[in-house]
Amino acid sequence: MPGTYDVVVIGAGPGGYVAAIRAAQLGLKVACVEKAELGGICLNWGCIPTKALLYSAHLRQEIAHSEVHGFQVGDITVNAGDTRRVPLELWKAILCVGLLVVLVEWWIYNRRVHI
Ligand SMILES: Cc1cc2nc3c(=O)[nH]c(=O)nc-3n(C[C@H](O)[C@H](O)[C@H](O)COP(=O)(O)OP(=O)(O)OC[C@H]3O[C@@H](n4cnc5c(N)ncnc54)[C@H](O)[C@@H]3O)c2cc1C
Repeated sequence: MPGTYDVVVIGAGPGGYVAAIRAAQLGLKVACVEKAELGGICLNWGCIPTKALLYSAHLRQEIAHSEVHGFQVGDITVNAGDTRRVPLELWKAILCVGLLVVLVEWWIYNRRVHI
């Protein structure tokens, strides 16, 4: 991205991309530098993916202790290494993250922020 800019934002996490978009909305020429993924920790690792994992962990605990509700459950097997058996909740989170990243990408390009 050659040229000069009024503002260069380092990092395209929720802090960075919002600042970059706002600066562009105010008429400034903006570049945003990201070394990893658009959306930062929140979108790609923190907020959404961890919630899916926490839900799966909670569900596993519930099943393990379901005898208090009168159920009898045997050993619980976790297929964490088998990608064909990735839990539905995790697929939903992956889909959701993918959509949000595309949305952020579109939003940034639409505001003419250079990445
Ligand atoms: C496990 C976990 C769960 C979370 N859950 C929630 C939640 O449920 N709700 C909530 O509100 N918050 C949650 N958070 C907090 C949330 O993720 C952060 O508040 C948010 O990501 C901060 O945004 P940010 O833009 O400041 O930083 P980040 O999201 O960390 O983004 C910084 C970006 O800068 C990039 N970068 C860094 N250095 C450079 C460099 N030198 N050059 C180029 N790019 C660079 C990084 O690659 C990254 O993409 C959670 C965090 C974690 C870790």
